[in-house]
Amino acid sequence: MSSHYDVLGVSPEATGEEIKKAYRKLARKLHPDVNPGEDVAEQFKAVTHAYEVLSDPQKRRVYDATGNENGTDNGYGGGYAGQGFAFQDIFDTFFGGGGGQGGPASRVRRGQDALISVRIDLKDAVFGVNKKLEVDTAVICPTCDGSCCRPGTHPERCDICGGSGQVQRAVRSILGQVMTTAPCGSCEGFGTVIKDPCNECSGQGRIRSRRSLTIKVPAGVATGTRIQLSGQGEAGPAGGPSGDLYVEIRVNNDSMFMREGDDLHATLSVPMTAAALGTELQLDTFDGAQDIDVKAGTQSGEVITLRGLGVTHLRGYGRGDLKVHLHVETPTKLDPAQEELLQQLAKLRGEQFTEGKLVASGGMFAKLRDKLGNL
Ligand SMILES: [Zn+2]
Ligand SMILES: [Zn+2]
Repeated sequence: MSSHYDVLGVSPEATGEEIKKAYRKLARKLHPDVNPGEDVAEQFKAVTHAYEVLSDPQKRRVYDATGNENGTDNGYGGGYAGQGFAFQDIFDTFFGGGGGQGGPASRVRRGQDALISVRIDLKDAVFGVNKKLEVDTAVICPTCDGSCCRPGTHPERCDICGGSGQVQRAVRSILGQVMTTAPCGSCEGFGTVIKDPCNECSGQGRIRSRRSLTIKVPAGVATGTRIQLSGQGEAGPAGGPSGDLYVEIRVNNDSMFMREGDDLHATLSVPMTAAALGTELQLDTFDGAQDIDVKAGTQSGEVITLRGLGVTHLRGYGRGDLKVHLHVETPTKLDPAQEELLQQLAKLRGEQFTEGKLVASGGMFAKLRDKLGNL
């Protein structure tokens, strides 16, 4: 098997610029739109792959050292989806640097990015989850393999423009007759026509298809977090590389817990008597049942912090806290016996009533002053 350098016809000492030049020259000659044919297409693939490796300094270093590009590369998947591959170079080659002049246009385009959203429960945001998704995107047509042609046929040179993709036209203007260049209407500027388009994709090289994939949603995501999946978006026309798929996360509201940053908040109602006497409560958290120690004399609004039971930090280590807000419930709808008991309690505690009105004592004012002082 010949080396990537042989394929491009350059020496192993060639500079990046020389490699680029060699590739462009070969790609112009071998591109399937320009030079249709089975073995030419194979050659084009080999040249493009060699360029993909040698144009990336890191991949080239690995290739030079090991003789193959898989030293660190996580597998050349046969597509153009490899990161760092300057697919733009192919476009520049055929668009003449993006100006749209000179030479036919390529049918091959990168596919569009796609965005879908997925709903997860708060618990899944806390711990992360593997989520199965149904995605509706364009995929490479399995019948023609993205060539747009019926199997066994190839694009043919356009008779109207002679394969250049462009026609000259005389246009009358106030300055007189002017010659302009416009894309050939017969081949839409591609320089070739597909006389026998693939039936399955109507000559587009891609079809719409529903597929399912499982994504790993990391712990710590929040509503609005986007996960990027390289090369999982829309397949490009005529076998072009796929765009990326973005999955936007939406986290459902939870009936028990509210999230604030990476902390979770819950509110627990405690009967007045339990708050006064002290008790132990059990709270069902995402980490299972937790005992909450309500101390005797607990006031409404007190917060008990359960360290590390909040949401996992998306970046870094550890988790936020779970904060349990205690709400002391004052009893309502007392029956006569309960009212009698509370009256007795008030008397025992020296809380004096005058004709049903509580006489404000010095202690109560002190409390208020403390509170205002804290403001
Ligand atoms: Zn097809
Ligand atoms: Zn034409």
